[in-house]
Amino acid sequence: MTLTGNMLIGQQAITGSREAIRAINPATGTALEPAYLGGTGEHVEQACALAWEAFDSYRETPLAARATFLETIADEIEAIGDELIDRAVSESGLPRPRILGERGRTCHQLRTFARTVRAGEWLDVRVDTALPERQPLPRSDLRQRQVPLGPVAVFGASNFPLAFSVAGGDTASALAAGCPVIVKAHSAHPGTSELVGHAIARAVKKSGLHAGVFSLLFGSGREVGIALVTDPRIKAVGFTGSRSGGIALCKAAAARPEPIPVYAEMSSINPVLLFPAALQARGESLAQGFVASLTQGAGQFCTNPGLVIARQGPALDQFISAAADLVQRSQAQTMLTPGIFQAYEAGVGSLLELTSAQEVAAGVRGNTPNQCQTHLFVTQARDFLADAALQAEIFGAASLVVQCADDHEIRQVLEHLEGQLTITLQLDDADLESARALLPVLERKAGRLLVNGWPTGVEVCDAMVHGGPFPATSDTRTTSVGTAAILRFLRPVCYQDFPDSLLPTALKHTNPLQLRRLLDGQREVLENA
Ligand code: NAP
Repeated sequence: MTLTGNMLIGQQAITGSREAIRAINPATGTALEPAYLGGTGEHVEQACALAWEAFDSYRETPLAARATFLETIADEIEAIGDELIDRAVSESGLPRPRILGERGRTCHQLRTFARTVRAGEWLDVRVDTALPERQPLPRSDLRQRQVPLGPVAVFGASNFPLAFSVAGGDTASALAAGCPVIVKAHSAHPGTSELVGHAIARAVKKSGLHAGVFSLLFGSGREVGIALVTDPRIKAVGFTGSRSGGIALCKAAAARPEPIPVYAEMSSINPVLLFPAALQARGESLAQGFVASLTQGAGQFCTNPGLVIARQGPALDQFISAAADLVQRSQAQTMLTPGIFQAYEAGVGSLLELTSAQEVAAGVRGNTPNQCQTHLFVTQARDFLADAALQAEIFGAASLVVQCADDHEIRQVLEHLEGQLTITLQLDDADLESARALLPVLERKAGRLLVNGWPTGVEVCDAMVHGGPFPATSDTRTTSVGTAAILRFLRPVCYQDFPDSLLPTALKHTNPLQLRRLLDGQREVLENA
């Protein structure tokens, strides 16, 4: 397909009129064609009007048809072939194998949501049948199901140009829930966004759905983004990006006459806790695993291990020395955008200026544009506790080791942490009791706790939680990865004493969708299940 530089409002290609956005190949610093003229409030108005028009028919699509639609999007993305891979590589600077893997993950995600939609468990059907003879008062027939919130605004993320962008997890879960989606494309990868946007638009058409089920807008966050979030027809927002961007959207959504939820995934330093027996027994291999996780993708993962916590002593010294050796030998890698590179350099620069943190190693310096040089720092627990700046996210391959005097100080450091997406526990059998004692504080701090692994790499599955207390996310009750992400875009409705003919199909007395309902307090066991 020839890239056009146009937005998509439903099936219509529309040219913007604001300042041109051009992708920059971060590996070379060169601007890529075509230019994408930014949208205006008028374009937001058109896309929202169309999405609202589409909502009532889309929300009633039979589960099988909606599932097939999601699978068709995946098929259409795969059918783009190398053009999508080549464009995503040149717009992101990410290596080809990583982009190939990301396309696989994106399509797997869409197909997983298709399976979820078909199964219908997310409708969470609850039935309390009428008790006309109950004393002192009879009970009505009460039936509950989940319904979609309405049109959703999605902000594509820079660090996953496919899996967290136009057809990423936010879009897939909102469409699965029955919500039309309007994507505000990330300005770092407009060509990739256009290609994927057209794939979704083709799937909309092939599936015979209303054109307003999907639109794609380009433009600045402050104009197009805020106009979207404040449009009365938008009922929820999905976002992955910076803390300041996420907070700005939360504030705009809360200030509306009708406030709406913003599911923003923002900032996490993903602490790794090294327990004494594990550190003693396998410090060298822990250092290898840690540096591999730290440097993967130039550290541009929301789950990058930006903090290590351990008790000071010879075993920790050996770990730091082995990690420093590996960091020194780590090659520079291209970062996603000049802006992200500059933010990384500024974050590392701030740490270098502090007397409370010492640099123990820096990786190989790059000699091409926007190269991330790995950095490893150490600090003492008392300094970490005294200075909030030491737990600010540095997006990239930089990490800080916090040396603690004893278990009490480890607990103090954990209590002092902001909310996190993940906390990793490296432990051996002899560490189990210490780990158990810390579990209550760890559960309060993070959405995912993992043992003897590394936080980078997030499985798309039913049990995944990619969320956590603020500032990891703006809503600690949710996940943006995995099938539970659908729950963000639903709300319950109760139907009291409805005649069967008026009930939605999912709630009818004969249970025609064969859903496992909660019937009079008991989970139904279905004969064919
Ligand atoms: P970003 O600056 O937050 O931008 C993400 C999206 O939000 C863009 O579409 C942007 O629009 C919009 N936006 C940003 N600020 C806004 C505001 N005040 N009002 C309305 N819309 C706004 O994130 P980024 O460009 O991807 O990367 C910048 C930094 O974000 C990184 O250095 C890193 O610190 C952090 N980040 C974190 C994660 C994570 O997973 N935790 C992932 C990616 C990035 P524009 O097109 O106008 O920029």
